[in-house]
Amino acid sequence: MTGTEGPGQVGVPLVARRDDISALEAYHSPQLDVPVRLNTNESPYPPPPDFVDAWLSALREVPLNRYPDRSARGLRSAIAQQQGTTADRVFCANGSNEVLQTLFLTYGGFGRRAAVFEPTYALHSHIARITGTEVVVGERREDFALDIDAAAALIAETAPHLVLVCSPNNPTGTVEPREAIEALLAVAPGIVVVDEAYGEFADWSAVDLVSEERPLVVARTYSKVWSMAALRLGFCVGPRWLVRELDEVVLPYHLAAPTQLAGTVALRFESEMAARVQRLVDGREELVVELSKLEGVDVFPSGANFVLIRPHGRGHRLWELLVDRGVLVRDFSEWPRLDDCLRVTVGTVEENQRFLAAMREALPEVTEA
Ligand SMILES: *Cc1c(COP(=O)(O)O)cnc(C)c1O
Repeated sequence: MTGTEGPGQVGVPLVARRDDISALEAYHSPQLDVPVRLNTNESPYPPPPDFVDAWLSALREVPLNRYPDRSARGLRSAIAQQQGTTADRVFCANGSNEVLQTLFLTYGGFGRRAAVFEPTYALHSHIARITGTEVVVGERREDFALDIDAAAALIAETAPHLVLVCSPNNPTGTVEPREAIEALLAVAPGIVVVDEAYGEFADWSAVDLVSEERPLVVARTYSKVWSMAALRLGFCVGPRWLVRELDEVVLPYHLAAPTQLAGTVALRFESEMAARVQRLVDGREELVVELSKLEGVDVFPSGANFVLIRPHGRGHRLWELLVDRGVLVRDFSEWPRLDDCLRVTVGTVEENQRFLAAMREALPEVTEA
């Protein structure tokens, strides 16, 4: 350890990370330089050029010597209008990851617990640990849906301050029905967070369940649906008291003026965005149909912009064979509960065709033998 000793602290190393975070593994998704990149669930389409023009000209009017609007009022009202709620129920941050981090800073922390249901988005437990929150782990069913009875038992036993549900779930694509979220709300003693990073690709949203009486908060992002991953903007919809408490915790002026503007201006292009979502949903359905025709691979139903598959053979070898054919997907084959699974992001029509062609060639190689 590279510690030094502080005055009066002989033997206590001060230049050392917290013990509880030095055990953490960094979160990363390996990038390779291949022609078809279907590994990070971004939109394959850039945002509409008219949006970029409108955003840049609005940006010219911004007094750059001044701090941005601390409470992002314009952006909150625009989002509220789009979501059918009020601005005081909306909290915005730099990506929904910062929304989640702020929720953990406010309601998690030392001596507190958060429940997650694996396999799910790895960053939920990662942010929990960084904020000193203990993680209690529940298991999903074989088909990756929540096991409501097991979840209720875990919640009763551990009394978590936060319950996290990702729906559609990354990386499995599973959409939880409204009854599942209501069942969790009925038993959870703390806050229930529904991470809807892929909400626009699914057929219902828990945003409609948000009210002052329920400790429910729904997190959303501009990264996946709005083709704006580079701009880092996410938000959540929750009860007013919760939004006020998040506002007190987050750093002042955390949301830069260009980001606030981008989020507001983007909402003027809703029909273009909706068309992109529809194209990706169509692409997903076609991928599922074509993959289901292949021998030797399980295809899990998805309500997101990606599909999880499990070959009846070595998943990591299949991943390599796809890379050899210029197609990068996300390799989950070594992850607990996801043996041999790969996740493919829905791309453009051409990218999807190239992925399918590579699969038709590569799959027999891993399933024979
Ligand atoms: C991508 C993703 C996010 C984070 O998105 P941001 O880019 O931080 O808005 C949050 N949750 C899930 C499940 C995701 O897949």
